[in-house]
Amino acid sequence: MERTLFVIKPDGVQRRLIGQIVARVEKAGLAITALRMMSMSRDMAARHYEAHKDKPFYEGLLDYVTSGPVVAMVCEGAGAVNDLRALIGATDPAKAGAGTIRGDFGVDVTHNLVHASDSPESASREIALFFPD
Ligand code: UDP
Ligand code: MG
Repeated sequence: MERTLFVIKPDGVQRRLIGQIVARVEKAGLAITALRMMSMSRDMAARHYEAHKDKPFYEGLLDYVTSGPVVAMVCEGAGAVNDLRALIGATDPAKAGAGTIRGDFGVDVTHNLVHASDSPESASREIALFFPD
């Protein structure tokens, strides 16, 4: 079994899309084994996105993910990391395929609704950040 971190970002919560997004994850056969709603502090957001700290979009990204509560979950399954990345689609919703979460609901390359870990190593690090227990 592989684990990955999945996060519904503030726009997904504000737009009342939690249920539809979670339904897609469950329909894809992934098991949700932990789930919490929380507000990310700026420090936590900075740690989560530390790989992007030199990018031009970094400060705007931190503003966005700290703009309201998020829903974080641990998803498990064989190949969960790649399965969830496929389910969310490309970073830019304009390039994400129909039937993907970002392709169907995302607004722009910043406001793309969801996060999913990009490797098992990222997943371990990110799960520890969101679920320290
Ligand atoms: N992002 C952005 N502008 C960009 C690229 C990314 O605002 O040009 C934001 C977007 O919210 C994205 C996050 O930064 O989800 C992390 O970027 P990454 O390249 O890791 O994309 P992801 O792994 O989320 O698909
Ligand atoms: Mg990423």
